[in-house]
Amino acid sequence: MKAKEVLENLKRRFPNEPEYHQAVQEVLESIEDVYNEHPEFEKYNLIERLCIPDRIFSFRVTWTDDNGNTHVNMGYRVQHNNAIGPYKGGLRFHSSVNQSILKFLAFEQTFKNSLTTLPMGGGKGGSDFNPKGKSNNEIMRFCQAFMLELAKHIGPETDVPAGDIGVGGREVGYMYGMYKKLRCENTGTLTGKGIEFGGSLIRPEATGYGNIYFLMNMLKRKGINDLKGQVVAISGSGNVATYTAEKVLELGGKVITLSDSNGYIYDPEGIDAEKLKYVFELKNIYRGRIKEYAEKYNCKYVEGGRPWAEKCTIALPSATQNELNGDDAKTLVANGCIAVSEGANMPSTPEAIEVFLQNKILYAPGKAANAGGVSVSGLEMTQNSIKLSWSREEVDQKLKDIMKDIHDACVKYGTEGDYVNYVKGANIAGFMKVAKAMMAQGVI
Ligand code: NDP
Repeated sequence: MKAKEVLENLKRRFPNEPEYHQAVQEVLESIEDVYNEHPEFEKYNLIERLCIPDRIFSFRVTWTDDNGNTHVNMGYRVQHNNAIGPYKGGLRFHSSVNQSILKFLAFEQTFKNSLTTLPMGGGKGGSDFNPKGKSNNEIMRFCQAFMLELAKHIGPETDVPAGDIGVGGREVGYMYGMYKKLRCENTGTLTGKGIEFGGSLIRPEATGYGNIYFLMNMLKRKGINDLKGQVVAISGSGNVATYTAEKVLELGGKVITLSDSNGYIYDPEGIDAEKLKYVFELKNIYRGRIKEYAEKYNCKYVEGGRPWAEKCTIALPSATQNELNGDDAKTLVANGCIAVSEGANMPSTPEAIEVFLQNKILYAPGKAANAGGVSVSGLEMTQNSIKLSWSREEVDQKLKDIMKDIHDACVKYGTEGDYVNYVKGANIAGFMKVAKAMMAQGVI
């Protein structure tokens, strides 16, 4: 297999899908040598079977706003690969959603889920519906209309969606309610559910906490055991960003930035627990903008900017794809940043990744570092199957163990002399398990 040729072929067959091409390119370049050590993979064209999703559903979602106007959005579910378990991956509601973005996310998810050690395949879905400014009833009606179609394609042993950008506990609750009504079953088919109806403790926190557990595993190899004295820049102010910040504070670090799609705040005093509580309420109850933080605490707000020029020792991109480019990466390194660990999916551009690797700083790609969310989703599926709920401590311990296992797998496959290339490690470790499962199951 020649990575370049496979990629060119995919670009020709699936044009205008830049995010999908970007995600595939990174994996192909990492696994090329290992793949070519296995002629049986090439014989059965494993690479194309792995890069092209099993199937994609796309559908029209029609809903009515509070003024009685009818709107039409697109809905999608990309079922990428189920070699090691049911399709599993979140739903994103954001105006930017299109097939390319969901294909990249489903592709990444396949490797991420493989790394978790749990039996989950990869999928992703969502809609170009924009939740901003919508009333609670409008959100509910949209979620119900979306599920009216999606319910045909999912199930506890088939495909188990969860949240992502724009889809939190409220949206999962509305979608699960509609799913149950349509299917007359109580199988917990979505994860990220409320604790009262089958949700798992620690699921809301899992992606952010998991990212910090992964970061700590990386830092420990350098003899750093806590975050005291570390200055941490975080982007985003949603689910992942806020719980990431919470764990950073718990371990003694100082959080100086948060952002949303309008801009970022820089608080040199540090965002402490009380300020973070305010952010949590701002985002989840009042559904406000991060700018309001700057007004309340009298600190800097940069409209339209990204926080990477603020001096920090650790950067945790936790908003969206391609939010950190090559110039940002150079600035981070020049400012003394020692570690970048990704809460978001594919937040760093290929140029940024190159800068991190060349400068040999600790760099954890999202498919490894943010796998805590889907891991606890996997634990939620287990608890639903056995009809039991585990304690907070039990789930947290399992999450820590999983993040350590993922870290160790990256070290095993990514060590290059005295440096660990976590990109290579994550891609090869994730790939090998899926590849072996696909080979064992024949050409299907
Ligand atoms: P939320 O919707 O809770 O928060 C997203 C945050 O990112 C918001 O602050 C949002 O700002 C900001 N954001 C979204 N789009 C953009 C953009 N185009 N430019 C700048 N800022 C943007 O989502 P999550 O916290 O759940 O997800 C964040 C990232 O983490 C995503 O990449 C997601 O795929 C990834 N992830 C999430 C997991 C989970 O368990 N939730 C699991 C693994 C990965 P605004 O409010 O203005 O839109």
